[in-house]
Amino acid sequence: LPEAPVEALQAADVAQLIPRPDPDAHKYTRGVVGIRAGSAAYPGAGLLSVAGASTGLCGMVRYVGEVADRVREAHPEVVGEGRVQAWVVGSGGGESAGDALATARQDGVPLVVDADALAHVDGPLGVPAVLTPHAGELAAMTGADRAAIEVAPLAHVRRAAERYDAVVLLKGRHTLVATPAGRVRVTTTGLPWLATAGAGDVLGGLIGALLAAGLTPYDAASVGSWLHGAAATLASGGGPLVAGDVARLVPHVVRDLIGAG
Ligand code: AMP
Ligand code: MG
Repeated sequence: LPEAPVEALQAADVAQLIPRPDPDAHKYTRGVVGIRAGSAAYPGAGLLSVAGASTGLCGMVRYVGEVADRVREAHPEVVGEGRVQAWVVGSGGGESAGDALATARQDGVPLVVDADALAHVDGPLGVPAVLTPHAGELAAMTGADRAAIEVAPLAHVRRAAERYDAVVLLKGRHTLVATPAGRVRVTTTGLPWLATAGAGDVLGGLIGALLAAGLTPYDAASVGSWLHGAAATLASGGGPLVAGDVARLVPHVVRDLIGAG
């Protein structure tokens, strides 16, 4: 069979896919996302994952991890452990990332697996999942050469999605999102200023919020990536940005999209 062409998500598609609250909505019907990320050594990974999730696209954000006090200080809306509809696991998790992944899997809800937790993925996870490696992380997972992935990202992201039976989002200049069935979307809304510490943590949180709100892993990953790139472009204005700015501008991007759609 010929491979399906790569799809480029348009603004109008994204606008349609944005989860909107029903008139009867309450915070639980809008979805609850849980974040397991960040450590004493890397508190920012937890804080920025929470920031990406706390962009108003689901009903509630829970945080479980080593930097709960700092998260509560920075994000008073965030609450502690309880039932969630999606988990984000991995960034800055260090040694504990494997435990965090195992615990989150037991809930049976969709997962975003990023950063340190990716090293603990050695096959299908048995739950719907979005894996979010950059080329180096994908190389470490699969044993492929980083340079080989950078030369042929499309082939490698397709192969990984099939191998792990998960949606795989390969980060880089252009972000590719692949399904196990071989569909691929490309996002080009970002810009090189986004190559900055913490940007990936914001993306993971954002995708988790969209999963919790009920989007499929494929839609959550590609819509999240599109919004992340658009917010970065707005934050940049042609100049430098920091990861926190990207999270802060996501609601603004969504407002413009929904208004235009
Ligand atoms: P991470 O590697 O986890 O910190 O994530 C980096 C983020 O920056 C991802 O969203 C990448 O897609 C994005 N990014 C990295 N390099 C570039 C680039 N050269 N152009 C556009 N976006 C990039
Ligand atoms: Mg990262």
